[in-house]
Amino acid sequence: MFKLLNKILNINSVSLHSSIKIYGIVKLPHQSRHLSTSGTMFKSAVFSLQDASKDQVQEFLNSFDTVLTDCDGVLWIDNNAIPGAADAMNHFRKLGKKIFYVTNNSTKIRSEFAAKATQLGFIANQDEILSTAFLVAHYLKGIGFTKKVYLLGSNGIGEELKAVGIRHIGVGPDPVKPDFKNMQPSELDPEVGAVVVGFDEHVSYPKFMKAASYLASEECLFIATNTDERFPKGGSIVVPGTGTLVRAVETCSERKALVLGKPHSYVRKYLESCGLNPARTLMIGDRCNTDIELGVRCGFQTLLVLSGVTSNKDLEKLRNEKTPPLPDVVLPKLGDLLPLLLS
Ligand SMILES: [Mg+2]
Repeated sequence: MFKLLNKILNINSVSLHSSIKIYGIVKLPHQSRHLSTSGTMFKSAVFSLQDASKDQVQEFLNSFDTVLTDCDGVLWIDNNAIPGAADAMNHFRKLGKKIFYVTNNSTKIRSEFAAKATQLGFIANQDEILSTAFLVAHYLKGIGFTKKVYLLGSNGIGEELKAVGIRHIGVGPDPVKPDFKNMQPSELDPEVGAVVVGFDEHVSYPKFMKAASYLASEECLFIATNTDERFPKGGSIVVPGTGTLVRAVETCSERKALVLGKPHSYVRKYLESCGLNPARTLMIGDRCNTDIELGVRCGFQTLLVLSGVTSNKDLEKLRNEKTPPLPDVVLPKLGDLLPLLLS
């Protein structure tokens, strides 16, 4: 990809300090000259694929064998497919590329994700879904965890835990009582050996009290699905993401969670166990600080789409401030890719 972008952009790269730290001084076809750096990875400037020729787009498509894609904000928003996204993903598959749907959403089990994707026009099967609910179960099973999980999260995680034989408690409402501060130790389950925090629409003060109380024992594991700040939503209403709950539990427990979702290293570890070739892997996402960060950390090529959280304005700000992680290429939406092959 770096070679491809060099070719496309006529990059004049200057190595700084080491062979892997690069500044690219770039002349973009329709944009102003700027610099970018990523610190430890090869990194070029952000290039709009819309400025590429048909042959260059074809070359881009030939440059990867595996496609990892985020879901919310890239493929769909809520229950509405983003126009053209399914055609693009299904085209990747038709070209023989391996597909993984990599999502920080912890509210569904993999079969539900696959069913949703299929309903919205994407070809998908359960084994291609890499959700944080699945990662939690995979991680705990992998370390031989046999105790019970206190789950400040949804049934999606609960079902994935159940599928690997791990018991859990805590899902559902735990309303505040008038004397909530008088919670008794007897209300805690002595079999709990891990607190898992994911998205929980029933979050409450008693849940925070229980999570922090379990975590008072150093032996109790503290795991979080992801730290996304917000859900991708239009309009004036902000929908707080799982990071809101993780930070709250970290604060009251005075501990740091092991985060398994993007951009943290467990995703990379899992993907490496699938035998991916990072240099021939494309990560598609709508958030620089999760999707693109994951791609940069893993040495994948990265495509940012502006149909979700990161806006064009956000991207410009990151570019102007030269703030990594920056994507290799950008498109307004994934559905804009295929028409470029016909132009
Ligand atoms: Mg997203």
